[in-house]
Parts: sequence; structure tokens; C-alpha cells
Amino acid sequence: MKDSKYVYLDNAATTPMDPQVIEEINKHFKETYGNSSSLHSIGQRAGQLLEKSRKTIASLINAESEDIYFTSSGTEADNLAIMGVALKNQEKGNHIITTTIEHHAVENPCKELQRKGFEVTFLPVDNFGLIDLKELENTIKDKTILITIIFANNEIGTIEPIKEIGAIAKKHNVIFHTDAVQAFGKLPIDVNEMNIDLLSASAHKIYGPKGIGLLYIRNKGKKEGWGKYIQPLMFGGGHEKDMRPSTVAVPLIAGFTKAVEIAKAEMAKEAERQIMLRDKIIKSVLGNIDDTYLNGHPSQRLPNNINLGFKYIEGESIVLDLDMEGIGTSTGSACSSKSLDPSHVLLAIGLKPEEAHGSLRVSIGRFTTEEEVHYFLEKLPLIIERLRKISPLKKGIKYMFDETATDHYN
Ligand SMILES: *Cc1c(COP(=O)(O)O)cnc(C)c1O
Repeated sequence: MKDSKYVYLDNAATTPMDPQVIEEINKHFKETYGNSSSLHSIGQRAGQLLEKSRKTIASLINAESEDIYFTSSGTEADNLAIMGVALKNQEKGNHIITTTIEHHAVENPCKELQRKGFEVTFLPVDNFGLIDLKELENTIKDKTILITIIFANNEIGTIEPIKEIGAIAKKHNVIFHTDAVQAFGKLPIDVNEMNIDLLSASAHKIYGPKGIGLLYIRNKGKKEGWGKYIQPLMFGGGHEKDMRPSTVAVPLIAGFTKAVEIAKAEMAKEAERQIMLRDKIIKSVLGNIDDTYLNGHPSQRLPNNINLGFKYIEGESIVLDLDMEGIGTSTGSACSSKSLDPSHVLLAIGLKPEEAHGSLRVSIGRFTTEEEVHYFLEKLPLIIERLRKISPLKKGIKYMFDETATDHYN
């Protein structure tokens, strides 16, 4: 499962596989090696496992199993949704609405479409990371072909009002995609009740394998089908009803399915347990360490996400010092942690660049224990104190900061 001594608190970047998932995958790599499209019995066995898996996974979000299309990742699912809808609807319009806090897997396809002549509106968010529903509705025009909004943010954990967004999209007859990679398996999702047309998810964020994801594509009325509003990006041999050709990774999908089964069975209990640990961390850090604040929404947030701001020091130093104590955390999103640019999400919620640099993301998971949380809470204040002592920005040299800037986060 994981290195028994290392305290892994970076579950938003990726999760360790559940031992039951590993067992399931190993079994099917050995036994179910056939091509699910082959006519012979070995292929048919893989095909049957694939369809059974599709059904189980669909049930987690109240979808029809035939509307689940497997991809290699959440990123691929986001690209397929956004580029696929844009290319198919060019005649109808060229306007896309998204937000300023999307994962790069949505942000960058949108920027690529902008370069190709599409008009993209990046909706701003408030200090908690929430979009304004009225502003969304006012932004929709005749040319709008797609709304793509993240379900729950990977950096600050804020959960967007997805059901309300879905209702607005439906009212104006605009296709609605949501990147639900962080929410899938952690929050209840109902694609019908929420009027979601397209939804991306990924196995490795829910204790499943890396290299497998999915796109839910609503079959808009059986007669029309998806062919009316989205087109594939790859062309090959017929798999996934031509929407995403290439030999289907059935053993990985079996692992994804096992991860979904476990997530479904434990969701309610785990959410409650993780919220308890999450709030314990927030309360302890804000209560015991000076000049600290919470990024993101205080309650409308993922059960496993904590994003903290520390004045006068850099998130990178905190991450490296915690790692030396055997604790794994992150400064923001995994994809940007190697670049020195401040996180676009933290800037979008109103932080100044120097404040954004002082942020730490702690993401707990199903394998996080109370003892591990205590160990983290014991080590963190010592690290912050030491870093502040040696920091050129430390307290006493306050001219670098506007002291009032972050008061509203406390
Ligand atoms: C991790 C993540 C992705 C990318 O998923 P991959 O399977 O790693 O490509 C996309 N969106 C969000 C919100 C994520 O957290």
C-alpha cells in the first residue's frame, strides 16, 4: 500500500493503490489478457469483464453504462470533452465559458482553442474560490457552445455549485462539462440530477491505477446520440464505439472498478472521518501558528483538502523540510510544483504573488491515520518557526507585506 514509515499527505496529487486493487489488477493481467474486441473466448472474457466494469462504474454517478468511455487519464478525458465539443460545434458557435481556477488539463485546451480563434471567457471567482451563478448566466450568449467548470478544485478544495450550474446550462441549451477528477468517488454525484452532459474522472486519484480515466458522455436522446455534439480526437479501430479507439486496457479498468466499489461502500463513512481530521488540522494550525490563514472555502470544500498560507516563508521550503521529517505535502498543484510561477488558482482567489508562494497543500486520504495527523501537527510548528527565523521576509521586516491583505481569510 505505502511505505509504512512515510506520512503521505499528498493524496490530491495521486493516491497509493488499495491492496485489493493491486490484487485485482494482477489477477486480470494474468487471466484476462485478451483483446476485448476479439471473437474468440479469451477476447470475449475480456469483453464481458469490460461491460461489467462499465456498469459498476456508471452506477457511482447514476449514469447509463453505455455512456462511460474509457480514456488513458483525466487529462485525456478533459481534452476529449473540450476539443471534441469545440470541433463538432464550430458552425453553431465559438464561445466557451470556463473559470480562472481550472486544472491545467482544462485550462490549457481552452487556451489552445483561444489560439485557434475560439472566444473563451474565464469566469472569476470570489475569495473562497466560488463562481457567481448570475455572472455565469449573463455570460452565456447565442454563440456559447460549452460550459466547462471544475467540480471541486484540486488546490484549494472548493466545491462549485454544480447542480445550479447544470440547471443554467440546461435552461440555455448549452453543453455542460465538469472536471470531476477530485470529486469522483469522494462526493455524491448524480449526472441526471445535476444535468451534467460530460464528466471527467481518473482512477489514480481514488486508490486505483495510473493510466486509466473516463469521460461520461450523455447520450442526448437515443436518436441523436453523442454524434450530434461531440467528435472523437483519435481515429483507429472501433473501440469505445469509435469515440476513443485503441485496444482497451481491461486489467486497469478492472482495477478502476475495484477502486470504485470500495469508494462507493466507504464514501459516507470516509467523508465524515476525513472532515474530522481535516478540521482538526485547520483548527490546530490556525490556533497554534501566528500569521497563518486558510485558503479556499471553510465548509464547502473537499473532505480531504487543506490549503494553508504562511506569511514570510516559502511553501517550497516547508515541503522540503517536512519531507526530511518523512511527511509528503505539496505547495499547490503537482503539475506546477516544479515551476516558480505562483499558482493561478491562489492568484484567482485574490492572493498576492508573495502570499501565493507561502502556501502549503495537505491532502489526506483513506489511509491517513489520526497518529499520522498528530505527527504532522507536532512537526509543522517547529519547521515554520525555524524557517521564519532564517527568512529574509520574517516578521519585523514588514515592508514587504500589506498587513491587512489577508485578514479576511482568518
Ligand atoms: C489530477 C487531476 C487531473 C488530471 O488527471 P490525470 O489522470 O492525472 O491526467 C485533472 N483534473 C483534476 C482536477 C485533477 O486533480
